[in-house]
Amino acid sequence: MEISEKAPAKLNFSLDTPFRHQNGEPEWKMVMIAVDLADYVHIQTLPNSHKITVSTDSGFLPSDQRNLAYQAAKMLRDKYQINEGVAITIDKNIPVAAGMGGGSSDAAAVLRGLNKLWQLGLSRKELAEIGLKIDSDVPFCIYSEPALVTGKGEIVTPIGPLPPLKIIIAKPRDSVSTPSILRKINYDKIKHQDVDAVVCAIKSQDYATMVTKMGNTLESITAERHPEILKIKEKMLQFGCDAAQMSGSGPTVFGVCQKASRAQHIYNSLRGFCKEVYIVSPYNLDQQTCF
Ligand code: ATP
Repeated sequence: MEISEKAPAKLNFSLDTPFRHQNGEPEWKMVMIAVDLADYVHIQTLPNSHKITVSTDSGFLPSDQRNLAYQAAKMLRDKYQINEGVAITIDKNIPVAAGMGGGSSDAAAVLRGLNKLWQLGLSRKELAEIGLKIDSDVPFCIYSEPALVTGKGEIVTPIGPLPPLKIIIAKPRDSVSTPSILRKINYDKIKHQDVDAVVCAIKSQDYATMVTKMGNTLESITAERHPEILKIKEKMLQFGCDAAQMSGSGPTVFGVCQKASRAQHIYNSLRGFCKEVYIVSPYNLDQQTCF
């Protein structure tokens, strides 16, 4: 049996960390959204095998147990004692180690897909709890709809659709290691974000307030090592974005505006400064299972 799942990239419209847990992990308070830049994850169950295989069209990715999609299949199989192999093929479109949660989204797609193929009947909340053991972004990726995300990433509260908008994404050449940025957070110095104000603005479809309240606490930490982030952000604002900021731990920068024609103008102008630029829309949840 087989299924194909769309695995959309995520962006952080607001990202804050109120404190660090005793085990060193950050407590998160974030507004996350999914966009229609997506990987495609094809999952096939193999009744006469016990192997889990992952193949991708990206030369950069591990295809063994270091791949988050592999970990997802193994975790679900072990937990429910399923005696089958799984073959996973990933068509990779989301830039790797970019702050867009590509690996987490692939893992979430495997959990969703196998939940259907093995008829486990698990709720999104149950899948999110399993996914948290893989990465803090996996629970959100199970939902892939605008949400307030708290705890270590496992408390996902949908907040309804975004006001109409277009998003321009620019991926600088550098890759960023998330753990190395998280280790650098100094809780006495960081500038906190008004995450609740962004939630409120989205719930009331108040685009103007939303763009003034967006922000990312990790941006200044990553930008110290990757100053290109601030340059791209400045260009986005100069070319007409209403807000621009880094996503996750970076280095991807995104900006928002309301009109498609303006987004196209910003896209064209940015292409001179950054090779990898995309125009995207918020993700449409109805298109999650492809066929
Ligand atoms: P994070 O969720 O940690 O912020 P990110 O969005 O910045 O991550 P990813 O593209 O998820 O970045 O990659 C992070 C790391 O995970 C990379 O080192 C990559 O090799 C590894 N990885 C494992 N499996 C995958 C996968 N299926 N897709 C992308 N990266 C993967």
